[in-house]
Amino acid sequence: KLENATAKAELGRASWKLFHTMMSRFPEKPSDDDRLALKTYIQLFARLYPCGDCASHFQKVIAKYPPQTSSRNAAAGWACEVHNVVNKRLKKKLFDCSKIGDFYDCGCGEEEKDKKG
Ligand code: FAD
Repeated sequence: KLENATAKAELGRASWKLFHTMMSRFPEKPSDDDRLALKTYIQLFARLYPCGDCASHFQKVIAKYPPQTSSRNAAAGWACEVHNVVNKRLKKKLFDCSKIGDFYDCGCGEEEKDKKG
C-alpha cells in the first residue's frame, strides 16, 4: 500500500496531542506506581506506534533521552524535548519548551484532589 502523508501527519498530530495532554495531567507528586505506569506507557507507545519507521526512530530517541517521571513538570518538559527531536529530524520549527505551561488543556475541568488511580 502507498504511503499517505496526510494520514500519517494527522495521526502524528492526534498522537502528540494526547501525549502532551497526558503529561499535563500527570501528578505533580507521583507515586512510584504512577512513575512506573508513565514510563511503561511511554515505552509501549514508542513500540506500538502504528507508523513503523516513526516507532523505530522514536524508540532510539527514548533510549537516548530516558523518560522523566519525577513530576508533572519533568514529564511535560521531557515530552516537549523529545517532540523537538522529532521536529528537528523532520525539519520543522522547534517549540519553546519554556512555554509548555498551560498549552495543553484537557478540558476536563477541576482536577480531582489526591485521587489514587
Ligand atoms: P506536530 O509535530 O504534529 O505538532 C502538533 C502541534 O503540537 C504543533 O502544531 C504545535 O502546536 C505543538 N508542538 C510542536 N512541537 C512541540 C513540542 N516540542 N512540544 C509540545 N508541543 C509541540 N512523521 C514522519 O513523517 N516521520 C517520522 O519519523 C515521524 N515520527 C513520529 C514519531 C512520533 C512518536 C509521533 C507521535 C509522530 C511522528 N511523526 C513522524 C509525525 C510528525 O511528528 C508530525 O506529527 C506530523 O508531521 C504533523 O506535523 P505538524 O507540523 O502538524 O505538527
